[in-house]
Amino acid sequence: MGELQVFEYMREHQYEQVVYFYDKPTGLKGITVIHNTTLGPALGGTRIWDYATEEEALVDCLRLARGMTYKSAAAGLNLGGGKTVLIGDAGQLKSEAYFRALGRFVQSLNGRYITAEDVNTSTRDMSYVAMETDHVVGLEGKSGNPSPITALGVFNAVKAGLQHKFGSPEVENHTFAVQGAGQTGYYLIGYLLEAGARKVYFTEINPRHIERMQQEHPEVEFVKPEDIFGLEVDVLSPCALGGALNDRTIPQIKAPVVCGSANNVLLDEERDGKALKDRGIVFCPDFVANAGGIINVYHELHGYVRERVVAETGKIYDRMLEILAIADAQGISSQEAAKVFAKQRIEAVRQLHSTYIPR
Ligand code: NAD
Repeated sequence: MGELQVFEYMREHQYEQVVYFYDKPTGLKGITVIHNTTLGPALGGTRIWDYATEEEALVDCLRLARGMTYKSAAAGLNLGGGKTVLIGDAGQLKSEAYFRALGRFVQSLNGRYITAEDVNTSTRDMSYVAMETDHVVGLEGKSGNPSPITALGVFNAVKAGLQHKFGSPEVENHTFAVQGAGQTGYYLIGYLLEAGARKVYFTEINPRHIERMQQEHPEVEFVKPEDIFGLEVDVLSPCALGGALNDRTIPQIKAPVVCGSANNVLLDEERDGKALKDRGIVFCPDFVANAGGIINVYHELHGYVRERVVAETGKIYDRMLEILAIADAQGISSQEAAKVFAKQRIEAVRQLHSTYIPR
């Protein structure tokens, strides 16, 4: 990319606001991007990363904030999309004062942006942010670890994928391959087994996670990382890192359904989304499948009730079916269809807001 023309980029992708902030005593240096607040306040986590350049940080923040708009819109939440990136070495920068300084900047946006944890930030860090602002979620003692809920959402999305492909959402009689048995993959495997999955394979690179699976569920068969994509199974579930589906791995896939938790799992959204479609593979877009995490923290804003969160996460099933149907009807990739679905909701609500009704 040549030098970024920020206003041109904002115009093209309809961003609302880009804020730079700096606090000399603590070394806090960051950017908050608010992409779209049609549906509600922009929510997105705070990431700390030692970016090589300021432009790299900005581009990352712009991209992540936009992704949050689609994720929340497709999840049926009254939230917009935003993100914060903090520039520097997390190990050296983190302190109470650093996060309280961040909290003061978040507060200065007056609720237009709500933050949470992300890469290199923790619930503990957010507890310092919360000393200075109410606009933070993902706090200790509130919604708790999102991973079981994220995995439950993925499980519902898997069932939608099965329904779309085989005409029934039952997981019995089906076989599964899960890449990554960390926070989300571990719980997903639990749900699949509970529902009577015929066979589950998994792969991992962390020996502790391999051992945990082998002790708790010896029936789940380990395969080497390089073998997971080519397994003869019904569902491939990438639950490790982004970019796992690409021009090297997609040609190996034998599963007719692909559905997992990993964010940005397509290395190149357009190319790889189309490659999956051309191969006739039902791909459940990741940002729809893994929305349980954001549904979980969203409910902190409205008084957290676990049953309500589980019920909302269950709606991922119908939403995924609708998106897969849009993809078929319009002859586009499911990744593209998920964006169409999200944009339709934003546009519909934008029109709803066009009349003034006092409350
Ligand atoms: P995690 O780090 O707990 O688990 C990922 C696991 O994948 C790790 O155990 C790691 O060892 C393994 N792994 C990494 N590379 C691998 C490879 N090449 N082959 C096999 N295993 C490999 O992370 P997580 O919280 O389970 O998240 C997984 C994905 O889901 C990420 O992309 C994350 O952004 C996304 N996600 C997570 C949540 C959540 O609530 N945790 C919510 C939304 C999205």
